[in-house]
Amino acid sequence: MRKTSMRAKRTVPAVIGLDLGGSQVRLAFITPKGQRAGRILTVPVTDRGLKAVLTLLVSSIQRLQSDGPCPAAIGIGIPGFIRMDEARIYRSPNFPEWKNVPIRSLLESKLNFPVLIENDANAAAFGESWVGCGKGLPSLLYLGLGTGVGGGLVLDRGIWHGTEGLAGELGHITVDPNGPICGCGNQGCLESYASATAVVRNYMEKTGQVRPGLTAQDVGVLARRGNQKACAVFVELGQALGVAIADLLNIFDPERIAIGGGVAGAWSLFHKPMMDEIGRRAVRPVRLNEKVRRSLLKNEAGMIGAAGLAYRHVGVKVF
Ligand SMILES: [Zn+2]
Repeated sequence: MRKTSMRAKRTVPAVIGLDLGGSQVRLAFITPKGQRAGRILTVPVTDRGLKAVLTLLVSSIQRLQSDGPCPAAIGIGIPGFIRMDEARIYRSPNFPEWKNVPIRSLLESKLNFPVLIENDANAAAFGESWVGCGKGLPSLLYLGLGTGVGGGLVLDRGIWHGTEGLAGELGHITVDPNGPICGCGNQGCLESYASATAVVRNYMEKTGQVRPGLTAQDVGVLARRGNQKACAVFVELGQALGVAIADLLNIFDPERIAIGGGVAGAWSLFHKPMMDEIGRRAVRPVRLNEKVRRSLLKNEAGMIGAAGLAYRHVGVKVF
């Protein structure tokens, strides 16, 4: 049945979107309208070495291809700093051994179709502006609240990479000059308040108890049950996000700010303090409820966005 429908659609180009995370690879065929065609293949990453990951990527792509059409291209979202001119991964927090890796040419030598590489949060930003919570809007800023805080800027329907490819590092906006030291070396970064790691750490600091295995989701459950210290963690998270978002609105005046990542699941716990803070600090706090939205594509944003960018890479207009 599936084979027949694939054959019928042979004239429609097919592109694979792939999200490479530190613990798993997720990939699927994505249509030119940004819809997923068929299943998502999820494969665990057990060895983060370059050779092992390359082998895993190629075998995962071949597995997906075995029950689909030959793809016109593949778009891959990868965490880390990418030199876009050479499609090299300069550095990645999830793959610390990788330094200056020409990932596109390594993959293209093993696959018979073009490969497009993009930072994962940039890809998610593109996905949200293509078919997500900012569908069709020319400007959208994305904040991904995960293990860290990633960011991406879509301006005039394209990703703004900056001169060194480092634009959109929104997790490292200073929200408190006297705040905790961040992994990047700066002090008081947004990431120290709004990441899943920060939620757990800040809760343990407030309670003075070390609780191994505690997750940000657990802290969310405690807050929903009325635990005051857990609630305070999310109020502070909302305030920190509000400070950063007010700055972003003042600088870019975008049509949409999309908030995604696992911590966005605690939306109702931090939404009010976030909006209050934005209202206090934005120069023109207009249409805020329309502008600041939760991600629609959730954990598929990066995969779908990477596919959209791959369509553009091979000359298919997506929006
Ligand atoms: Zn930082």
